[in-house]
Amino acid sequence: MRMTGQRRVIARVLSDATDHPDVEEVHRRVAAVDARISLSTVYRTLRLFEEAGILERHDFGEGRARYERVAKEHHDHLIDLSSGTVIEFRNEEIERLQERVARELGFRLIGHRLELYGVPLPGRRSKAKD
Ligand SMILES: [Zn+2]
Repeated sequence: MRMTGQRRVIARVLSDATDHPDVEEVHRRVAAVDARISLSTVYRTLRLFEEAGILERHDFGEGRARYERVAKEHHDHLIDLSSGTVIEFRNEEIERLQERVARELGFRLIGHRLELYGVPLPGRRSKAKD
């Protein structure tokens, strides 16, 4: 993929992100660096990055896509429905269980997506990561 100056700015914003921004949020951050970069350029570039396999698109059930750089370490997400907060987690038991299910069905597991949706238990403060 050809890395133009604008694409480079967008790539930097994405690699600096520690959350799961939607297109508009990516555009806000990008525009703070270079105001000439339009929302449609961001849209196009995110699609290109996704096709190139360096960006992952998530659907957390809000009707808008959220993005994150493909992680070195696989993780899953829990979405707090009361606040929209997204919490990343990794659970070895779930990982093993999924491999076992695939194997029992005659498959080698290549990947998976798992989203949990919940609300905080009373008296428990959720650890936030938007
Ligand atoms: Zn994530």
